[in-house]
Amino acid sequence: MRVLIVGSGISGCTAARLLADEGHDVEVWEARDHTGGNCHDERSGGVTVHKYGPHLFHTNDRKVWDFLSRFTAWKAYRHTVVAETALGRILIPYSPLTERKLGRALTDEEIRELIFVDYSEKQWGIAWAELPAAIKGRVPTRRRDEDDRYFTDEYQGQPADGYAELFARMLEGIPVMTGQDKEAWRERRSAVDRVIYTGKIDEYFGCSLGRLPYRSLRFEHRRSRERLPHAVINQCNRLPHTREYDHAYFSLEDPEETVITREYPLAHDAFNEPYYPMPFGEGQALYQRYKELAAAEEGTLFLGRLATYSYLDMWMAVAQAMVKVGAILKKSHLEA
Ligand SMILES: Cc1cc2nc3c(=O)[nH]c(=O)nc-3n(C[C@H](O)[C@H](O)[C@H](O)COP(=O)(O)OP(=O)(O)OC[C@H]3O[C@@H](n4cnc5c(N)ncnc54)[C@H](O)[C@@H]3O)c2cc1C
Repeated sequence: MRVLIVGSGISGCTAARLLADEGHDVEVWEARDHTGGNCHDERSGGVTVHKYGPHLFHTNDRKVWDFLSRFTAWKAYRHTVVAETALGRILIPYSPLTERKLGRALTDEEIRELIFVDYSEKQWGIAWAELPAAIKGRVPTRRRDEDDRYFTDEYQGQPADGYAELFARMLEGIPVMTGQDKEAWRERRSAVDRVIYTGKIDEYFGCSLGRLPYRSLRFEHRRSRERLPHAVINQCNRLPHTREYDHAYFSLEDPEETVITREYPLAHDAFNEPYYPMPFGEGQALYQRYKELAAAEEGTLFLGRLATYSYLDMWMAVAQAMVKVGAILKKSHLEA
């Protein structure tokens, strides 16, 4: 089977590897000048910089962990997050540890006000009262035990040689065309049996029903000889950025000079990246209409964050690709 994969993020890379392992003829087309999508990192001075925001790997899915472990060893990284709040700096999620620091227990309402309201309003550009239940419901109000880790999954770690190297190994032996015009892959359509599309679903259909809404980010980087006291500091207040982080933590590096980044949420437009789908309200209604078009589209599999218009952690993107590409492989075995 000849398969053209549009996009080389973790979804496209997983699909490419699974198909190539089974002897299929795969080619990958990528608009950016590098592979790895938003998980991409690059060395700058003595620091590994997460170009599109910090990426910390975590999963409870053993199959996903074993699959990625074929291409990387892991550094044992323990992720903690601190929030700058009206009551000072506290560890989040809220737990008995935070309670001890504050000297008293907070009610759910107080936790919401302290940690989530300002942060969420900045993140989504929507007043708290108007934020959909789907977003408010995601907010983890409290943790009962004293585990100070941000993620509690069984498998956690950072790729020993960075994400860029991990993706390079996943794509070994597979032709990859980077720096392509977003429409260029269409010229190859008739030369292949199948397309796996991981770009924006509305762009696949020429935005014929309208553009799907996204939230974007602006990153403000600075070099610094002084380290931040924590890997990530969330700004749960009216400052315009949502968080600040020190990249040297993420790969357990100890450089003379680190890179510190402030993250500012903003509306998505033609000049920035679509980081967060907004699958609620009008966004969800429009996506449902594109999903119907996708269901009727023969020979194309829609995969990943942009094509399924959903927030996927890395492990979820890999798991989704394993299931959906697994189904194609099964079908091709039956047809052979
Ligand atoms: C700020 C931020 C922080 C995150 N932190 C974490 C974290 O700590 N842990 C975690 O598990 N997950 C995290 N995630 C989620 C993670 O980024 C996603 O799981 C992952 O990027 C999904 O991969 P993907 O391949 O589906 O999409 P993407 O990474 O977006 O890759 C899609 C690729 O397709 C390319 N493309 C699109 N259209 C075309 C076209 N027409 N032609 C050619 N190429 C095209 C794009 O250039 C891109 O490279 C974070 C996400 C963000 C935004």
